[in-house]
Amino acid sequence: MKFLGALSLLVASASAFSPAAFTPRSSSSSSSALKQAAFTDAEKQVILDKVAKIFEDTPSQEFTPYVGNIEATFPGALDNLSLENKVVSILAEKGFTADNTLLATSLCCDELARRLEDDFVKIYGNNFNLGGLSGFPFAGNTGFGAMAAHIPDDGSCLIIYGPHVGISKSGEVGKVERVGIELVDNCCGSAIAASNYLKGITDGGAVIKTAIQQFTDFQQGAVQELILPHGKRLSDAGDDRMKELPYALYDSQDMLMQDIVKGGAAGGKKNGFAVLGGIQINTAPDTLDYFHPLRFDLVNTDGEVIEDLLPKLSE
Ligand SMILES: [Zn+2]
Repeated sequence: MKFLGALSLLVASASAFSPAAFTPRSSSSSSSALKQAAFTDAEKQVILDKVAKIFEDTPSQEFTPYVGNIEATFPGALDNLSLENKVVSILAEKGFTADNTLLATSLCCDELARRLEDDFVKIYGNNFNLGGLSGFPFAGNTGFGAMAAHIPDDGSCLIIYGPHVGISKSGEVGKVERVGIELVDNCCGSAIAASNYLKGITDGGAVIKTAIQQFTDFQQGAVQELILPHGKRLSDAGDDRMKELPYALYDSQDMLMQDIVKGGAAGGKKNGFAVLGGIQINTAPDTLDYFHPLRFDLVNTDGEVIEDLLPKLSE
């Protein structure tokens, strides 16, 4: 049973970061060492309980008609349940517990982008939102600084960011079914609108807008500016434009996020930051979403990558 395997992995990894639980404590232990030992013991159970709760709430993968489509279309993508198990257990080994970790995301405004976020909220608690349309980190340096100030003392911060893309049951990329809506429509709407704007420019005939100067649609104006460098790349993708689009957006978002993290890393705490970037793949309401991880770094408070955790997600 897949879930049991994941759980035992989590137990093993959670145990691995709390050796004090299995060694006798001497009366001469410092108060901080005692506090840490009791803390990790309790936290192990808290994380296990929270992951188990997600299992209860998640649709069964066995009945999804999607699996072949998604794995063929987005090689390297993991279903959210697998991703969440792996991320939580990998980070547990690095000292990221449910109580000492602040979750921060930069994901699209779309309610479909909340699925992944909500799962991680169930594990780590409330989320600091850095993102906006298409998933760009519109909160910027100031938002990041405010977020970092909320990381628990001696704690950790998990940042999850990236664009999202729908895939319909028929396998069409860029569209997805939604609850209560008959029309199978665009996902991500912001990204596709920006792509269409860009297509108008690269194909000729478009009227250049200056929406970025309008506060009534500030974020979309920025998305359209930030997608401009990818005009040729998307043109060259031809019929695969909708599949290429999230990867192009990811590259822009990743560049911004790396800059923002480096600029604000000094505000981090003991365990630094875990930075998970990738593409959310939204599926129909009754099936699991997927995530294609493209970066999973452990970053210290000097802004240096001290470990590349990405290979561990494909183990
Ligand atoms: Zn969106």
